Amino acid sequence: MGTSVTTDSNQAMPDNSAPMLYCANHPGRETLLRCNRCDKLICYDCAILTPVGYRCKECVRGQQAKYYNGGVLDPLIGAVIGFILGALAGVAAFLFLGIFGIFGFFIALFAGPAAGGIIAEGVRWSVGRRRARYLNIFVIVATLAGMFLAGFILLGPRTIGSLLPVLLFAIGMASTIYARLQ
Ligand SMILES: [Zn+2]
Ligand SMILES: [Zn+2]
Repeated sequence: MGTSVTTDSNQAMPDNSAPMLYCANHPGRETLLRCNRCDKLICYDCAILTPVGYRCKECVRGQQAKYYNGGVLDPLIGAVIGFILGALAGVAAFLFLGIFGIFGFFIALFAGPAAGGIIAEGVRWSVGRRRARYLNIFVIVATLAGMFLAGFILLGPRTIGSLLPVLLFAIGMASTIYARLQ
């Protein structure tokens, strides 16, 4: 590839001079793809397309580990907070959504996401604003458990009348928690 004079035979067999490149994880697979972070050779099965280009699984995992900076106890702390706040929200929802008839559904439409936002903020504050893997799932399960347990235990059969708007409330609340605590 220098500036020296080349012969015709070099052009006839250009590929022989280029070494074959193989995936670091699959020695049998030829590839030209490299992780754009650590420069490791990767095949299409090993590559993950990220917003900044192809990366190997190890680099993507390393970045996720850095993104999730919370401790192992954080999902449990979040679950406890979620259960308590969920119980309060549940009693309020069961008590009030039923008495407004059809308007209970409209109120639930706005009150659910609002309650979810408050609970998500409460959890974020209680875990020191750290991000933990599956934190949102733990909080949603605990919040719904607190909500329905408190409703059924405190109000008993009276909960039946407000069950549908409360379900709507619960869906809005859960999806907001899911999005806010990712
Ligand atoms: Zn890499
Ligand atoms: Zn591979």
